[in-house]
Amino acid sequence: MKPRIVIVGAGHGGIQAAASLREEGFEGDITLLSEDPALPYQKPPLSKGYLQGKQTDEAILFRSANWYTTNQIDLQLGVSATHLDPATHQLTTSAGDTLTYTHLILATGAANRRLPLPGADEVLYLRTLADAQQIGDRLAQAERVAIIGGGFIGLELAAVAVEKGKAVTVIEYQPRLMQRVLPPVISDVFGRTHLQHGVQLRLGVGLQAIQKQGHSHTLTLTDGQSLTADLVVAGIGVIAETGLAASAGLVCEDGIRINEYGQTSVPDIYAIGDCAAHDNPYAGKCLRLESVQNAVDQAKTVVSHLLGNPRPYRAVPWFWTNQYHLKLQMAGISAGFDTYVIRGDEAADKFSVYYFKAGKLLAVDSLNRPADHLNARKLLEAGVTPTEAQITDLIFNLNGVL
Ligand SMILES: Cc1cc2nc3c(=O)[nH]c(=O)nc-3n(C[C@H](O)[C@H](O)[C@H](O)COP(=O)(O)OP(=O)(O)OC[C@H]3O[C@@H](n4cnc5c(N)ncnc54)[C@H](O)[C@@H]3O)c2cc1C
Repeated sequence: MKPRIVIVGAGHGGIQAAASLREEGFEGDITLLSEDPALPYQKPPLSKGYLQGKQTDEAILFRSANWYTTNQIDLQLGVSATHLDPATHQLTTSAGDTLTYTHLILATGAANRRLPLPGADEVLYLRTLADAQQIGDRLAQAERVAIIGGGFIGLELAAVAVEKGKAVTVIEYQPRLMQRVLPPVISDVFGRTHLQHGVQLRLGVGLQAIQKQGHSHTLTLTDGQSLTADLVVAGIGVIAETGLAASAGLVCEDGIRINEYGQTSVPDIYAIGDCAAHDNPYAGKCLRLESVQNAVDQAKTVVSHLLGNPRPYRAVPWFWTNQYHLKLQMAGISAGFDTYVIRGDEAADKFSVYYFKAGKLLAVDSLNRPADHLNARKLLEAGVTPTEAQITDLIFNLNGVL
């Protein structure tokens, strides 16, 4: 009997796994289950070009419908995996089928954390194409927009909304924007830029209550102030989709626990992407990464292992966000740095921050300096730390130290 690999989830991880399996010569059956009814699409544009109206539905597809047929990938849209039995290698689906697999790849992603407040039922969240379409429709009608959460998605939405002429307020519990992942040297640039574009920033306050009044909502903040909005969108983080794995007895700790080859506690079941908790060599601890890079590179790691060419996961983490003219690209994980050095022109919003810990390069955030970002990924991968003099000398080609 032919081997059969079942992949649950057709996001960045699931699609890459299917593509890599065929590219690497896997000739068995591939079944790809997608709870989402839409032809699989990329998520990053949803809060950027898609909502801006610059990218169409077709432009954000991973692959055309033909690609799945040509590559003999049995894509089942609008079908979720509902029950997993690792002992019998069987997966039950919402379509009523029982699939027997040789290997299973869980690429189930994450779900939006929801506001635990009464009255918050009409708050919108952004994760799927359907969410983006709903937010786009509502945005067209709205004049006042409140965004709960000053993280990447909330701020990308704020930039899109204010550029459409809306009155936008961002409510962030922390005293700084994107505080969890960015130090002040970068996040302050974003704060200033949002203010310059007219976004109201309410930092260091939380949301206490929401009340619907006619077509609008009154938001009461923890400092006692209130504001009214026609549209409220929350971007307050995500929770790993571990339900299927956990109920099948796989070890889960804020994510499905995997080893350096992507194997879960049941070796013929793998997990990748947003749902997977792994020991990351760049973070020096177990974590989940919510990024395209991580989903794609973990998919490649799993496929290599499955096809008998094991290579442990060591990819340099990287991420990006686009807000107005600010294109930020992050390489490595800067948490825990003790010093930093700046290369470039801060006044022109064109600079990179090189973070160090005990004299070793830890991470690089590049603002409107894409060449620095590409070089940083290579430096981090090679474990090379340039000197402060080399970093600050704009004439010096940092590729030269590799
Ligand atoms: C609006 C937005 C903007 C983003 N911007 C960026 C960015 O700029 N840069 C960046 O690096 N990352 C960005 N991200 C994060 C990035 O999209 C994710 O890290 C990436 O999609 C993770 O891929 P994944 O395959 O792990 O999960 P996902 O892409 O979330 O795919 C998981 C899929 O699994 C499906 N699924 C779940 N459970 C089941 C089940 N039981 N049965 C069947 N199917 C199931 C879900 O429906 C989902 O489609 C953004 C995310 C969003 C939502």
